[in-house]
Amino acid sequence: MNPTISINDSHRLQVAPLKIPTRLLLGPGPANAHPAVLEAMNTSPVGHLDPAFLGLMDEIQSLLRYVWQTDNQLTIAVSGTGSAAMEATIANATEPGDVVLVGVAGYFGNRLVDMAGRYGADVRTITKPWGQVFSLDELRTALETHRPAILALVHAETSTGARQPLEGVGDLCREFNCLLLVDTVTSLGGVPIFLDEWGVDLAYSCSQKGLGCPPGASPFTMSPRAMEKLQKRQNKVANWYLDMNLLSKYWGTERVYHHTAPINLYYALREGLRLIAEEGLASYWQRHQKNVEYLWQELENIGLTMHVEREFRLPTLTTVCIPDGVDGKAIARQLLNEYNIEVGGGLGELAGKVWRVGLMGFNSRPESVDQLIAALRQVLA
Ligand code: PLP
Repeated sequence: MNPTISINDSHRLQVAPLKIPTRLLLGPGPANAHPAVLEAMNTSPVGHLDPAFLGLMDEIQSLLRYVWQTDNQLTIAVSGTGSAAMEATIANATEPGDVVLVGVAGYFGNRLVDMAGRYGADVRTITKPWGQVFSLDELRTALETHRPAILALVHAETSTGARQPLEGVGDLCREFNCLLLVDTVTSLGGVPIFLDEWGVDLAYSCSQKGLGCPPGASPFTMSPRAMEKLQKRQNKVANWYLDMNLLSKYWGTERVYHHTAPINLYYALREGLRLIAEEGLASYWQRHQKNVEYLWQELENIGLTMHVEREFRLPTLTTVCIPDGVDGKAIARQLLNEYNIEVGGGLGELAGKVWRVGLMGFNSRPESVDQLIAALRQVLA
Protein backbone atom coordinates (compact mmCIF):
# COMPACT_ATOMS: atom_id res chain seq x y z
CA MET A 1 0.00 0.00 0.00
CA ASN A 2 1.24 3.44 -0.86
CA PRO A 3 0.50 5.50 2.26
CA THR A 4 0.42 8.76 0.30
CA ILE A 5 -2.45 7.71 -1.98
CA SER A 6 -5.81 7.08 -0.39
CA ILE A 7 -8.42 4.82 -1.98
CA ASN A 8 -11.28 6.67 -3.59
CA ASP A 9 -14.50 5.06 -2.33
CA SER A 10 -16.89 7.23 -4.34
CA HIS A 11 -17.70 4.38 -6.78
CA ARG A 12 -17.93 1.72 -4.08
CA LEU A 13 -21.60 0.87 -4.32
CA GLN A 14 -23.02 -1.24 -1.56
CA VAL A 15 -25.42 -3.20 -3.74
CA ALA A 16 -27.60 -6.17 -2.84
CA PRO A 17 -26.94 -9.57 -4.44
CA LEU A 18 -28.22 -9.76 -8.04
CA LYS A 19 -31.97 -9.76 -8.44
CA ILE A 20 -33.38 -9.48 -11.95
CA PRO A 21 -37.10 -9.76 -12.75
CA THR A 22 -38.23 -12.89 -14.57
CA ARG A 23 -39.46 -11.86 -18.01
CA LEU A 24 -41.05 -13.66 -20.89
CA LEU A 25 -38.82 -12.51 -23.74
CA LEU A 26 -41.04 -12.29 -26.81
CA GLY A 27 -39.06 -9.58 -28.56
CA PRO A 28 -36.47 -9.86 -31.34
CA GLY A 29 -33.99 -11.55 -29.01
CA PRO A 30 -32.62 -12.61 -26.70
CA ALA A 31 -35.28 -15.22 -26.09
CA ASN A 32 -35.46 -17.06 -22.77
CA ALA A 33 -32.81 -19.75 -22.63
CA HIS A 34 -34.01 -23.32 -22.11
CA PRO A 35 -33.79 -24.26 -18.37
CA ALA A 36 -31.49 -27.19 -19.24
CA VAL A 37 -29.19 -24.74 -21.00
CA LEU A 38 -29.00 -22.52 -17.92
CA GLU A 39 -28.27 -25.58 -15.82
CA ALA A 40 -25.45 -26.67 -18.15
CA MET A 41 -24.05 -23.15 -18.01
CA ASN A 42 -23.83 -23.47 -14.25
CA THR A 43 -21.21 -26.24 -14.58
CA SER A 44 -17.81 -25.31 -13.23
CA PRO A 45 -15.44 -24.08 -15.94
CA VAL A 46 -12.44 -26.14 -17.08
CA GLY A 47 -9.44 -24.84 -19.01
CA HIS A 48 -9.87 -23.89 -22.65
CA LEU A 49 -7.33 -26.55 -23.68
CA ASP A 50 -8.64 -29.24 -21.32
CA PRO A 51 -9.33 -32.44 -23.30
CA ALA A 52 -12.89 -32.42 -21.93
CA PHE A 53 -13.42 -28.95 -23.37
CA LEU A 54 -11.78 -29.79 -26.69
CA GLY A 55 -14.16 -32.74 -27.00
CA LEU A 56 -17.07 -30.42 -26.36
CA MET A 57 -15.82 -28.08 -29.11
CA ASP A 58 -15.83 -31.01 -31.54
CA GLU A 59 -19.41 -31.79 -30.56
CA ILE A 60 -20.43 -28.16 -31.11
CA GLN A 61 -18.88 -28.22 -34.58
CA SER A 62 -20.74 -31.37 -35.54
CA LEU A 63 -24.06 -30.19 -34.11
CA LEU A 64 -23.72 -26.84 -35.89
CA ARG A 65 -23.20 -28.71 -39.17
CA TYR A 66 -26.43 -30.56 -38.37
CA VAL A 67 -28.57 -27.49 -37.64
CA TRP A 68 -27.18 -25.68 -40.68
CA GLN A 69 -27.26 -28.81 -42.86
CA THR A 70 -23.70 -28.39 -44.06
CA ASP A 71 -20.57 -30.51 -44.29
CA ASN A 72 -18.29 -27.45 -44.12
CA GLN A 73 -15.14 -28.40 -42.24
CA LEU A 74 -14.69 -24.86 -40.96
CA THR A 75 -17.81 -24.61 -38.83
CA ILE A 76 -17.20 -23.09 -35.40
CA ALA A 77 -18.65 -20.79 -32.77
CA VAL A 78 -17.13 -17.34 -32.51
CA SER A 79 -16.66 -15.94 -29.00
CA GLY A 80 -18.92 -12.93 -29.23
CA THR A 81 -22.46 -12.09 -30.28
CA GLY A 82 -23.98 -12.40 -33.75
CA SER A 83 -22.32 -9.18 -34.86
CA ALA A 84 -18.90 -10.69 -34.15
CA ALA A 85 -19.72 -13.70 -36.33
CA MET A 86 -21.10 -11.32 -38.96
CA GLU A 87 -17.85 -9.38 -38.89
CA ALA A 88 -15.92 -12.65 -39.12
CA THR A 89 -17.55 -13.47 -42.46
CA ILE A 90 -16.79 -10.02 -43.87
CA ALA A 91 -13.26 -9.78 -42.43
CA ASN A 92 -12.17 -13.17 -43.79
CA ALA A 93 -13.87 -13.06 -47.18
CA THR A 94 -13.35 -9.42 -48.16
CA GLU A 95 -10.18 -7.93 -49.54
CA PRO A 96 -9.81 -4.20 -50.10
CA GLY A 97 -11.38 -3.28 -53.43
CA ASP A 98 -13.63 -6.35 -53.66
CA VAL A 99 -17.09 -5.55 -54.94
CA VAL A 100 -19.55 -6.64 -52.27
CA LEU A 101 -23.21 -6.50 -53.26
CA VAL A 102 -25.62 -6.30 -50.32
CA GLY A 103 -29.37 -6.83 -50.48
CA VAL A 104 -30.77 -4.19 -48.16
CA ALA A 105 -34.40 -4.58 -47.10
CA GLY A 106 -33.98 -3.74 -43.44
CA TYR A 107 -31.70 -2.69 -40.61
CA PHE A 108 -29.29 -5.64 -40.71
CA GLY A 109 -28.65 -5.31 -44.44
CA ASN A 110 -27.39 -1.83 -43.61
CA ARG A 111 -25.11 -3.23 -40.90
CA LEU A 112 -23.51 -5.50 -43.52
CA VAL A 113 -22.98 -2.46 -45.75
CA ASP A 114 -21.28 -0.60 -42.91
CA MET A 115 -19.03 -3.54 -42.02
CA ALA A 116 -17.99 -4.36 -45.58
CA GLY A 117 -17.09 -0.69 -46.14
CA ARG A 118 -14.86 -0.72 -43.08
CA TYR A 119 -12.85 -3.62 -44.59
CA GLY A 120 -12.23 -1.63 -47.77
CA ALA A 121 -14.87 -3.26 -49.97
CA ASP A 122 -16.39 -1.45 -52.93
CA VAL A 123 -19.92 -1.81 -51.54
CA ARG A 124 -22.93 -1.78 -53.86
CA THR A 125 -26.52 -2.19 -52.75
CA ILE A 126 -29.87 -3.27 -54.06
CA THR A 127 -32.82 -2.22 -51.98
CA LYS A 128 -36.42 -3.17 -51.31
CA PRO A 129 -39.03 -1.57 -49.09
CA TRP A 130 -38.76 -2.96 -45.55
CA GLY A 131 -40.88 -6.09 -45.30
CA GLN A 132 -40.33 -7.24 -48.89
CA VAL A 133 -37.81 -9.70 -50.35
CA PHE A 134 -35.71 -10.00 -53.52
CA SER A 135 -36.82 -12.23 -56.40
CA LEU A 136 -34.35 -14.43 -58.28
CA ASP A 137 -34.79 -12.21 -61.35
CA GLU A 138 -33.91 -9.10 -59.37
CA LEU A 139 -30.83 -10.81 -57.97
CA ARG A 140 -29.77 -11.97 -61.44
CA THR A 141 -30.05 -8.44 -62.84
CA ALA A 142 -28.05 -7.07 -59.89
CA LEU A 143 -25.29 -9.68 -60.36
CA GLU A 144 -25.12 -8.84 -64.07
CA THR A 145 -24.82 -5.14 -63.28
CA HIS A 146 -22.35 -5.24 -60.40
CA ARG A 147 -20.34 -8.47 -60.99
CA PRO A 148 -19.52 -8.73 -57.26
CA ALA A 149 -17.00 -10.97 -55.51
CA ILE A 150 -19.62 -11.52 -52.78
CA LEU A 151 -23.40 -11.32 -52.66
CA ALA A 152 -24.64 -10.77 -49.09
CA LEU A 153 -28.25 -11.40 -48.09
CA VAL A 154 -30.15 -11.52 -44.81
CA HIS A 155 -32.16 -14.74 -44.64
CA ALA A 156 -34.34 -13.53 -41.76
CA GLU A 157 -34.53 -9.73 -41.50
CA THR A 158 -35.28 -9.21 -37.81
CA SER A 159 -36.23 -5.58 -38.37
CA THR A 160 -39.05 -6.50 -40.76
CA GLY A 161 -40.02 -10.13 -40.10
CA ALA A 162 -39.44 -11.12 -43.73
CA ARG A 163 -37.88 -14.39 -44.93
CA GLN A 164 -35.63 -14.01 -47.97
CA PRO A 165 -36.03 -17.20 -50.09
CA LEU A 166 -32.61 -18.65 -50.90
CA GLU A 167 -33.49 -21.49 -53.27
CA GLY A 168 -31.60 -20.97 -56.55
CA VAL A 169 -29.48 -18.06 -55.28
CA GLY A 170 -26.38 -20.22 -54.81
CA ASP A 171 -26.60 -21.51 -58.39
CA LEU A 172 -26.89 -17.94 -59.58
CA CYS A 173 -23.80 -16.96 -57.59
CA ARG A 174 -21.84 -19.82 -59.12
CA GLU A 175 -22.92 -18.70 -62.59
CA PHE A 176 -21.50 -15.25 -61.80
CA ASN A 177 -18.49 -16.64 -59.96
CA CYS A 178 -19.21 -14.93 -56.66
CA LEU A 179 -19.56 -16.13 -53.09
CA LEU A 180 -22.91 -16.18 -51.32
CA LEU A 181 -22.86 -14.79 -47.76
CA VAL A 182 -26.00 -15.20 -45.66
CA ASP A 183 -27.09 -13.80 -42.28
CA THR A 184 -28.96 -16.57 -40.45
CA VAL A 185 -29.09 -14.86 -37.05
CA THR A 186 -32.88 -15.01 -36.74
CA SER A 187 -33.35 -18.14 -38.84
CA LEU A 188 -30.98 -20.80 -37.49
CA GLY A 189 -33.00 -23.35 -35.56
CA GLY A 190 -36.39 -21.81 -36.29
CA VAL A 191 -36.52 -21.60 -40.09
CA PRO A 192 -35.66 -24.42 -42.51
CA ILE A 193 -32.10 -23.96 -43.81
CA PHE A 194 -30.10 -26.20 -46.14
CA LEU A 195 -26.77 -24.40 -46.49
CA ASP A 196 -25.03 -26.89 -48.78
CA GLU A 197 -28.10 -27.61 -50.88
CA TRP A 198 -28.60 -23.88 -51.37
CA GLY A 199 -24.93 -23.21 -52.18
CA VAL A 200 -24.28 -20.80 -49.31
CA ASP A 201 -20.56 -20.08 -48.90
CA LEU A 202 -20.47 -18.02 -45.72
CA ALA A 203 -23.00 -17.91 -42.93
CA TYR A 204 -23.23 -16.74 -39.35
CA SER A 205 -25.79 -16.78 -36.59
CA CYS A 206 -26.25 -16.18 -32.86
CA SER A 207 -27.01 -18.30 -29.84
CA GLN A 208 -29.78 -16.26 -28.20
CA LYS A 209 -32.64 -16.87 -30.60
CA GLY A 210 -33.57 -20.16 -32.29
CA LEU A 211 -30.88 -22.11 -30.43
CA GLY A 212 -32.38 -21.26 -27.04
CA CYS A 213 -29.16 -20.09 -25.35
CA PRO A 214 -27.90 -16.86 -23.82
CA PRO A 215 -25.97 -14.53 -26.16
CA GLY A 216 -22.21 -14.79 -26.56
CA ALA A 217 -21.12 -17.81 -28.65
CA SER A 218 -22.05 -17.36 -32.29
CA PRO A 219 -22.09 -19.91 -35.12
CA PHE A 220 -19.87 -19.28 -38.14
CA THR A 221 -19.24 -21.41 -41.21
CA MET A 222 -17.43 -21.16 -44.53
CA SER A 223 -17.47 -23.44 -47.57
CA PRO A 224 -14.43 -24.84 -49.41
CA ARG A 225 -14.96 -22.11 -52.06
CA ALA A 226 -14.77 -19.42 -49.39
CA MET A 227 -11.72 -21.12 -47.86
CA GLU A 228 -10.02 -20.96 -51.23
CA LYS A 229 -10.57 -17.20 -51.35
CA LEU A 230 -9.19 -16.90 -47.82
CA GLN A 231 -6.09 -18.89 -48.74
CA LYS A 232 -5.44 -16.76 -51.83
CA ARG A 233 -5.56 -13.43 -49.97
CA GLN A 234 -2.85 -10.92 -50.72
CA ASN A 235 -3.18 -9.26 -47.29
CA LYS A 236 -3.62 -10.51 -43.77
CA VAL A 237 -7.17 -10.60 -42.44
CA ALA A 238 -7.51 -7.12 -40.95
CA ASN A 239 -9.08 -8.38 -37.72
CA TRP A 240 -6.81 -10.47 -35.49
CA TYR A 241 -9.52 -11.79 -33.16
CA LEU A 242 -11.69 -13.09 -36.01
CA ASP A 243 -8.96 -14.32 -38.39
CA MET A 244 -9.97 -17.87 -39.40
CA ASN A 245 -6.37 -18.73 -40.23
CA LEU A 246 -5.66 -18.39 -36.52
CA LEU A 247 -8.99 -19.56 -35.12
CA SER A 248 -8.98 -22.73 -37.20
CA LYS A 249 -5.75 -23.75 -35.46
CA TYR A 250 -7.63 -23.68 -32.15
CA TRP A 251 -10.78 -25.39 -33.47
CA GLY A 252 -8.88 -27.82 -35.74
CA THR A 253 -6.43 -30.59 -34.95
CA GLU A 254 -3.52 -28.33 -33.93
CA ARG A 255 -5.29 -27.01 -30.82
CA VAL A 256 -3.16 -23.88 -30.57
CA TYR A 257 -4.17 -21.30 -27.96
CA HIS A 258 -5.81 -18.29 -29.58
CA HIS A 259 -7.98 -16.67 -26.89
CA THR A 260 -9.55 -17.83 -23.65
CA ALA A 261 -12.88 -19.21 -24.78
CA PRO A 262 -15.93 -18.18 -22.70
CA ILE A 263 -16.17 -21.74 -21.42
CA ASN A 264 -19.63 -21.55 -19.84
CA LEU A 265 -21.19 -20.01 -22.92
CA TYR A 266 -19.91 -22.99 -24.90
CA TYR A 267 -21.43 -25.32 -22.32
CA ALA A 268 -24.70 -23.52 -22.95
CA LEU A 269 -24.41 -23.70 -26.72
CA ARG A 270 -23.63 -27.40 -26.63
CA GLU A 271 -26.72 -28.04 -24.51
CA GLY A 272 -28.95 -25.91 -26.77
CA LEU A 273 -27.72 -27.80 -29.81
CA ARG A 274 -28.02 -31.15 -28.04
CA LEU A 275 -31.68 -30.42 -27.30
CA ILE A 276 -32.34 -29.66 -30.97
CA ALA A 277 -30.66 -32.89 -32.04
CA GLU A 278 -32.74 -34.77 -29.47
CA GLU A 279 -36.00 -33.21 -30.70
CA GLY A 280 -34.93 -33.56 -34.36
CA LEU A 281 -34.52 -30.67 -36.77
CA ALA A 282 -37.71 -31.33 -38.74
CA SER A 283 -39.80 -31.38 -35.58
CA TYR A 284 -38.01 -28.29 -34.20
CA TRP A 285 -38.77 -26.36 -37.41
CA GLN A 286 -42.38 -27.61 -37.46
CA ARG A 287 -42.89 -26.53 -33.87
CA HIS A 288 -41.82 -22.99 -34.76
CA GLN A 289 -44.15 -22.91 -37.76
CA LYS A 290 -47.11 -24.33 -35.86
CA ASN A 291 -46.76 -21.92 -32.94
CA VAL A 292 -46.33 -18.86 -35.12
CA GLU A 293 -49.46 -19.76 -37.09
CA TYR A 294 -51.30 -19.97 -33.79
CA LEU A 295 -49.89 -16.52 -32.90
CA TRP A 296 -51.05 -14.99 -36.21
CA GLN A 297 -54.52 -16.47 -35.73
CA GLU A 298 -54.82 -15.17 -32.19
CA LEU A 299 -53.53 -11.71 -33.16
CA GLU A 300 -56.12 -11.56 -35.94
CA ASN A 301 -58.78 -12.64 -33.46
CA ILE A 302 -58.08 -9.50 -31.41
CA GLY A 303 -58.19 -7.31 -34.50
CA LEU A 304 -54.47 -6.94 -35.24
CA THR A 305 -52.80 -7.34 -38.64
CA MET A 306 -49.33 -8.41 -39.77
CA HIS A 307 -46.89 -6.25 -41.74
CA VAL A 308 -45.43 -8.97 -44.02
CA GLU A 309 -47.29 -10.94 -46.68
CA ARG A 310 -48.05 -14.41 -45.27
CA GLU A 311 -45.84 -16.32 -47.75
CA PHE A 312 -42.71 -14.47 -46.62
CA ARG A 313 -43.38 -14.23 -42.89
CA LEU A 314 -40.79 -15.67 -40.53
CA PRO A 315 -41.72 -18.41 -38.06
CA THR A 316 -39.38 -16.78 -35.54
CA LEU A 317 -40.28 -13.09 -35.70
CA THR A 318 -43.57 -11.40 -36.53
CA THR A 319 -44.04 -7.71 -37.20
CA VAL A 320 -47.48 -6.68 -35.96
CA CYS A 321 -48.98 -3.40 -37.21
CA ILE A 322 -49.69 -0.91 -34.44
CA PRO A 323 -53.31 0.22 -34.90
CA ASP A 324 -53.94 3.91 -35.66
CA GLY A 325 -54.17 6.01 -32.55
CA VAL A 326 -52.35 3.48 -30.36
CA ASP A 327 -49.09 4.50 -28.67
CA GLY A 328 -46.95 1.45 -29.47
CA LYS A 329 -44.17 2.36 -27.08
CA ALA A 330 -46.55 2.87 -24.17
CA ILE A 331 -48.17 -0.51 -24.80
CA ALA A 332 -44.78 -2.26 -24.93
CA ARG A 333 -43.80 -0.52 -21.69
CA GLN A 334 -47.03 -1.63 -20.04
CA LEU A 335 -46.53 -5.23 -21.18
CA LEU A 336 -43.07 -5.20 -19.62
CA ASN A 337 -43.90 -3.40 -16.40
CA GLU A 338 -47.25 -4.96 -15.63
CA TYR A 339 -47.06 -8.38 -17.31
CA ASN A 340 -43.29 -9.07 -17.45
CA ILE A 341 -43.55 -9.64 -21.20
CA GLU A 342 -41.01 -8.09 -23.55
CA VAL A 343 -41.93 -7.30 -27.14
CA GLY A 344 -39.81 -5.22 -29.50
CA GLY A 345 -40.57 -1.93 -31.17
CA GLY A 346 -39.99 -1.07 -34.82
CA LEU A 347 -36.56 -0.09 -36.16
CA GLY A 348 -35.71 2.41 -38.90
CA GLU A 349 -38.49 2.73 -41.48
CA LEU A 350 -40.81 0.73 -39.24
CA ALA A 351 -40.20 2.72 -36.03
CA GLY A 352 -43.54 3.50 -34.42
CA LYS A 353 -45.38 1.36 -36.98
CA VAL A 354 -44.92 -2.19 -35.70
CA TRP A 355 -44.28 -4.33 -32.65
CA ARG A 356 -41.84 -7.16 -33.15
CA VAL A 357 -42.91 -10.41 -31.55
CA GLY A 358 -40.47 -13.30 -31.37
CA LEU A 359 -41.26 -16.96 -30.78
CA MET A 360 -37.86 -18.55 -30.76
CA GLY A 361 -36.34 -21.72 -29.39
CA PHE A 362 -37.66 -22.54 -25.90
CA ASN A 363 -40.19 -19.68 -26.20
CA SER A 364 -41.86 -21.15 -29.27
CA ARG A 365 -44.72 -22.66 -27.25
CA PRO A 366 -48.51 -22.18 -27.27
CA GLU A 367 -48.28 -20.94 -23.66
CA SER A 368 -46.15 -17.98 -24.80
CA VAL A 369 -48.85 -17.03 -27.29
CA ASP A 370 -51.62 -17.43 -24.71
CA GLN A 371 -49.79 -15.26 -22.19
CA LEU A 372 -49.14 -12.51 -24.72
CA ILE A 373 -52.66 -12.49 -26.12
CA ALA A 374 -54.22 -12.38 -22.65
CA ALA A 375 -52.04 -9.39 -21.77
CA LEU A 376 -52.71 -7.64 -25.09
CA ARG A 377 -56.46 -8.05 -24.58
CA GLN A 378 -56.10 -6.15 -21.32
CA VAL A 379 -53.76 -3.37 -22.43
CA LEU A 380 -55.55 -2.69 -25.71
CA ALA A 381 -59.04 -2.73 -24.16
N1 PLP B 1 -28.21 -9.90 -37.88
C1 PLP B 1 -29.51 -10.00 -37.57
C2 PLP B 1 -30.49 -10.37 -38.65
C3 PLP B 1 -29.94 -9.77 -36.26
O1 PLP B 1 -31.22 -9.87 -35.94
C4 PLP B 1 -28.98 -9.42 -35.28
C5 PLP B 1 -29.40 -9.16 -33.89
O2 PLP B 1 -30.53 -9.26 -33.53
C6 PLP B 1 -27.63 -9.34 -35.64
C7 PLP B 1 -27.29 -9.58 -36.96
C8 PLP B 1 -26.60 -8.98 -34.63
O3 PLP B 1 -26.53 -9.93 -33.63
P1 PLP B 1 -26.10 -9.54 -32.13
O4 PLP B 1 -27.07 -8.54 -31.62
O5 PLP B 1 -26.16 -10.86 -31.42
O6 PLP B 1 -24.73 -9.00 -32.20
